[in-house]
Amino acid sequence: MAIRTKPDHQRYTFEGFGSAKYPNLMLRGAGDLNNWPLAVYESKHEGYAGMRKALQMEPGAVIEDVKTSGIRGRGGAGFPAGLKWSFMPKDTAERKFTRYLVINADEGEPGTFKDRAILEYNPHQLIEGCIIAAYAMQANTCYVYIRGEFLWLIEKLEAAIEEAKAKGYLGKDILGSGFDLEILVHRGAGAYICGEETALLNSLEGRRGEPRVKPPFPAAKGVFGAPTTINNVETIAAVAPILRMGGAEYAKLGTPKNTGTRVFCLSGHIKRPGLYELPLGVPLDFILNDLAGGSSTGKKIKAVIPGGASAPVFSEKEFSTPMDFDAVRNAGSMAGSGGVIVLDEDTCMVQACLRLIRFYAHESCGQCTPCREGCNWMEMILHRIEHGQGRTEDLDLLASMTPNIAGKTLCALGDAACGPMDSILQKFRHEFVHHIEHKTCMVSGHRLLAHVGAH
Ligand code: SF4
Repeated sequence: MAIRTKPDHQRYTFEGFGSAKYPNLMLRGAGDLNNWPLAVYESKHEGYAGMRKALQMEPGAVIEDVKTSGIRGRGGAGFPAGLKWSFMPKDTAERKFTRYLVINADEGEPGTFKDRAILEYNPHQLIEGCIIAAYAMQANTCYVYIRGEFLWLIEKLEAAIEEAKAKGYLGKDILGSGFDLEILVHRGAGAYICGEETALLNSLEGRRGEPRVKPPFPAAKGVFGAPTTINNVETIAAVAPILRMGGAEYAKLGTPKNTGTRVFCLSGHIKRPGLYELPLGVPLDFILNDLAGGSSTGKKIKAVIPGGASAPVFSEKEFSTPMDFDAVRNAGSMAGSGGVIVLDEDTCMVQACLRLIRFYAHESCGQCTPCREGCNWMEMILHRIEHGQGRTEDLDLLASMTPNIAGKTLCALGDAACGPMDSILQKFRHEFVHHIEHKTCMVSGHRLLAHVGAH
């Protein structure tokens, strides 16, 4: 079957270094469009060895091995994956559960493009991870909820699933283990919020993609009211290598509380944008300068968003931060989805802030007043500052809004909008003040022009 591809893969660097220090677990063969078929996965990448090993173990022992690996979810929150799996209820003499595994492939965080690369080049690694995870939790149905725009990846994933079925790796009684699994690919509904796990479940059920009130948490009541575990693509794709090498060996990579490798997505003003698979804990400035060649414009790097668009920005003094969940949080941001967005000194931070907030205002689902109204108001105020109509009191007004949004909404989108804005306002306040007082941009020197139809 001919599989459509997207030509833009050639624009990116795919760095899995493949050495003992920087092992290549997730990006094996990335960049080679002929890497995806089952035959290549089995012959070149030890494909399905982890699944064979897992199916010989007790399901509980598989969960223990994943716990031992220490892997934390790569979707944003960094919650330990093995612990999450252990929350799924077990069958008892009185009650048998229908359990589901759902893979969140609705990658939509600005600056994040790793899941699509795993799906493009290593779909079988995801499928193998799904089989292992579903077996560990005794779930017989797995949904891959994939971003609707990834048409070419949907075809590829479905073709890979057919290959796995034909080989007896999916379906009834997988390799004589007595375990059955079906994987179903579900196209997403085209909204950023559908990447939030409970909105995703609603969308999967054919409802409007709006976040649910928690509790109940999905492990108790998920899709179709049944216990459900939702994991990100990168997390599940890491499961096959974990089983292959053993959890204890995997845990030696990275730092003690942030184990393994993760795929960092570098974009913006950087010489070699692309995907870099590295052990957690590698310093940000090493990634930016030693691996990715520094700024693409020859200008100084002024700011970096270290974990996708929801993460508060780093300024120069944080550039030496080790890139793991805890160190990035301690430095005031979050490792989030692994999207590292680089901004050079010619970037107007007022404009960058407006661009970010406009995104969140647009993507708010509208259920909670603080998020629905607050994001729109923040956008309006930033818009007038950007267009030379800012007022002196606007900065205090903006600063007073975020405590009334963050932590006061149903899902994390409200917080996601406030984090970047607060940090940009704190670290680059002088740029906003210049916009307001001089009606010019201190970065470009341009006079700010009122926008027709300005707020
Ligand atoms: Fe919707 Fe925003 Fe409330 Fe999340 S925080 S549920 S996106 S209105």
